[in-house]
Parts: sequence; C-alpha cells; structure tokens
Amino acid sequence: MNPDCLFCKIAAKELPATVVYEDDAMVAFKDIKPVAPVHVLIVPRKHAPSVAELAPGDTLLVGEMIRRAQQLAEELGIADRGYRLVFNVRKHAGQVVDHIHLHLIGGQALGRMA
Ligand code: 5GP
Ligand code: ZN
Repeated sequence: MNPDCLFCKIAAKELPATVVYEDDAMVAFKDIKPVAPVHVLIVPRKHAPSVAELAPGDTLLVGEMIRRAQQLAEELGIADRGYRLVFNVRKHAGQVVDHIHLHLIGGQALGRMA
C-alpha cells in the first residue's frame, strides 16, 4: 500500500468506486470516465507503478489479471462480440495513474489502435 496512491486507496476502500470483482490479489471497478459502454479497471492490490516495473515473480499475478478480464467480459456480456485489453505504460501511452491497471473496454465497436 502506497499512501499517496489513488488506486491503493480504492483497493483499500479508503476511496469509493463501483467494484465489480475483488479477491485477495486484485480489485476490479468501473472507470470513472468510461470510453465505451463497458470500461473496467483491473487493479492488483500490490502497488507497482506500471508494467515497466514488473518483476519475474509477478508473472502469475499478471496472468490472473488477464484471466479475470476474460471472465468479467463474459459476465458483462461483451465476450462474444469482443473487447480490448490495454496496459498504458508511462508517459507516451498517456498513463495518468501510476499503479498498474488493466483496462477492459467493450460494448461497442472500437477504432483500430495499431
Ligand atoms: P491510465 O491512462 O493511467 O491507463 O488510466 C487511468 C484510468 O483511471 C483513466 O481511464 C481514468 O478515467 C481512471 N480514473 C482516474 N481516477 C479515477 C477514480 O478516482 N476512480 C475511477 N473509478 N477511475 C479513475
Ligand atoms: Zn498503488
């Protein structure tokens, strides 16, 4: 827990959010400024600033985040038509919250990014 970190505070329930899933390792909640009908952030409870700081021991956690995204997509009804998973990493990607998070975005056709 980093006391200055927005997503650490949300994970610790010190700040409110619309939580759609939580377990010992992670919490998932609706993005406050959604870019599509479904926009959920999957956030590990453990603080790391971004993918750039991941260590070899984080491999399982990252896999669990992606698997959770897959399951939430099913539950939220967007799996059949498809969705996008995004990790923004540092400045050029426009990362604004320096606590690693996976965006799950869907519910409409999304423009190509690359
Ligand atoms: P980033 O650009 O860092 O990958 O995305 C951070 C995301 O967090 C943005 O989509 C932004 O809308 C969302 N966000 C920022 N502050 C809050 C907040 O206080 N609550 C929630 N639920 N989402 C937030
Ligand atoms: Zn944090």
